[in-house]
Amino acid sequence: MIKVRVAPSPTGYLHVGNARTALVNFLFARASGGRFLLRLDDTDTERGRPEYEQAIYEDLRWLGLGWDETARQSDRYARYAECAEVLKQSGRLYPCFENEDELAAKRASLIKRKLPPVYDRAALAMTASQRAAAEAGGKRPYWRFKLSEGMAAWHDLVLGERKIRFGAVSDPVLIRADGTPLYTFTSVVDDVDFGISHVIRGEDHVSNTAVQIDLFRAISTAMPPRFAHLPLISGGEGEKLSKRIGSISLKSLRKDGIEPEALAAYLARLGTNKDAQILPMADLIGRFNIADFGRSPPRFDARQLLVLNRKCLHAASFSAVRDRLPEGADEAFWLAIRGNLDMLTEARRWWEIVTGEITPPDMPGDEAVLRAAADTLPPAPLGAESWKIWTAAIMAASGVKGRALYHPLRLALTAEDQGPEMAGLLPLIGHERVLARLGRFVV
Ligand code: GLU
Repeated sequence: MIKVRVAPSPTGYLHVGNARTALVNFLFARASGGRFLLRLDDTDTERGRPEYEQAIYEDLRWLGLGWDETARQSDRYARYAECAEVLKQSGRLYPCFENEDELAAKRASLIKRKLPPVYDRAALAMTASQRAAAEAGGKRPYWRFKLSEGMAAWHDLVLGERKIRFGAVSDPVLIRADGTPLYTFTSVVDDVDFGISHVIRGEDHVSNTAVQIDLFRAISTAMPPRFAHLPLISGGEGEKLSKRIGSISLKSLRKDGIEPEALAAYLARLGTNKDAQILPMADLIGRFNIADFGRSPPRFDARQLLVLNRKCLHAASFSAVRDRLPEGADEAFWLAIRGNLDMLTEARRWWEIVTGEITPPDMPGDEAVLRAAADTLPPAPLGAESWKIWTAAIMAASGVKGRALYHPLRLALTAEDQGPEMAGLLPLIGHERVLARLGRFVV
């Protein structure tokens, strides 16, 4: 039974990196007939907020991802405590008393001796009476997991063969002095209890994976899950995406006018050598293969995303977008402008241009064309054929043709150098406004 999960922490808005992890897990589950769990890693009570949790649901739904189950870590403290107890009994979880300064001093001394700064397990060597004395002195222990000898080796579905020697890693702290469990631990307990078969996450978790494989074995007799680590997306300038969280949250992309189909198409292919294509989700699922993902970090390319977004808008029907168009905008307006948009938010500007006030530049030298235009404008109502008829008439009257004809007309009527086909805009601007706009240039 294939089952995967995505495990965001509700401590901020989902960014492109989280969205990609979620999408890849979703596609993997759906492509294999498996299940997809949304787990909220909500144990950080200081930074966690309910509105971030709501935004996670909203953002995932917006992207077109549905999940089969929801779980939250804050419901499971009793279970974590129970597992911790078992590990304490077996001696795998041991109490430690060193404070940050003491640990820093140990690390510094190891580094000075050119040794890896790995925790020396001094606390593991404490006798029962030494521990009792530490506690009697007012110290509360935190708990480390005693790693096995040897190494963790796994076949990563993206990165290939991976080996990490436990000797190179400090025994991880699983329980803080105040009794709260840490992610390294809670995640494994959850993955065991929820029957997760594949853990697909960012490459930043590779060193956690080594430790977690050891923990899986300590907690459960079942096989650890399989792992797939996706190389982190780098920003345009090569910096890690997580540093730019604020600027590329899903919330802000949505607000900027990125369509979910474009983002899903982009992220489904990012880091593979296949071209992104706007497709219904069922086809993204049908074409998904985890083996397509490569080992090098992909670059986030906003231009490519915009190209996809354009394609999406060009194909969008009026009914698909009407709720997001300016009040009063109709199907004729949408069909006239959609081929010219990078983002849906630009529709507002065209609506203003068509129905509102515009300020065209002065056009000395174009008076003759514009006067001919005012004189030959076909009668109201202007329709689909009016532009063709009108420009032929202007040409005949003024002898001007080509760009010298079309450019001043476009500027006078839209105050823009370029834009959607004038033939479509003309009926939208309407007879009265066209005359008024030309009137400015004709004395
Ligand atoms: N809450 C963790 C994170 O967002 C989950 C990591 C995981 O998938 O195990 O990094």
